[in-house]
Amino acid sequence: MTAGPLLAAVEAGGTKFLCALVRDTVTIARMRIVTADPDATFAAVAAFFADRLGPIAAAGVASFGPIDLDPASPGYGRLTTTPKPGWSGVDLLGRVRAIVGAPVAVDTDVNAAAVAEARAGGIDGRLAYVTVGTGIGVGVAERGRPLPGAHAEGGHIRVPRAPDDAFAGTCPWHGDCLEGLAAGPALAMRWGVPAEALAADHPAWAVEAHYLAALCLSLTYLIRPERIVLGGGVAAMPGLHDRVRARFAALAAGYALDRHSARPAAYIVPPRLADAGLHGALLLAEALADPPSPAPPPC
Ligand code: ZN
Repeated sequence: MTAGPLLAAVEAGGTKFLCALVRDTVTIARMRIVTADPDATFAAVAAFFADRLGPIAAAGVASFGPIDLDPASPGYGRLTTTPKPGWSGVDLLGRVRAIVGAPVAVDTDVNAAAVAEARAGGIDGRLAYVTVGTGIGVGVAERGRPLPGAHAEGGHIRVPRAPDDAFAGTCPWHGDCLEGLAAGPALAMRWGVPAEALAADHPAWAVEAHYLAALCLSLTYLIRPERIVLGGGVAAMPGLHDRVRARFAALAAGYALDRHSARPAAYIVPPRLADAGLHGALLLAEALADPPSPAPPPC
């Protein structure tokens, strides 16, 4: 039996980069790098992959954003207006390609995570992956691939205010968009303590559940996913998924739910994978190394 191709996966995050080398679904090496300035960070990524055991066949990059994902754009594969100092305009695709010397596929961390969660959960239709942490991101997978051209910015939509919530919001662009009202920094500023220090019965979580349920309802009515995976550090608070499900049902008020969304317990769920973004990056690499065969010509 011949060994399969050597694949590289990179999850590029604002606080950490995860790198992995995988062959035949076995992780050969893996490293966590604290995100510094671009030059120092990519030097560490290069040092990790320099130890590889043979030529890399393909790499996948699942990145924080926003990223230019239009293959026809001159800025394809570059970060655009990220608030992370020093990272706007960084050519992720070019930098990783230079390091691994192989074709590279790039997508958002949340699109990649959506693909990985769809694979892990056996969802062949449409799945939305939401991360709630230092920001809020939304990715969508359909039939095991990122929804083409969909660099959704679902974290920055407007949502109805929670009752009696007068908090101004923290988004530097929009103030009280969803991210400005419900990401980790918003919770910390509104309640005066970091999100992880808020007890599970703190009133903060009813407010948080309202905003995340409003997002889930918008996703439901706009794209009809079969499942919404709610992940990220803030969403890991015990009991939050139950609160979001209950609020989702209340906001939907029974209108136009389908067989998936009518059963919130199986519809709005926590992630199955510990590192969905890194798994997704690997699936991007896998698809590049082994592209689907073209449809046979008609007889
Ligand atoms: Zn915003």
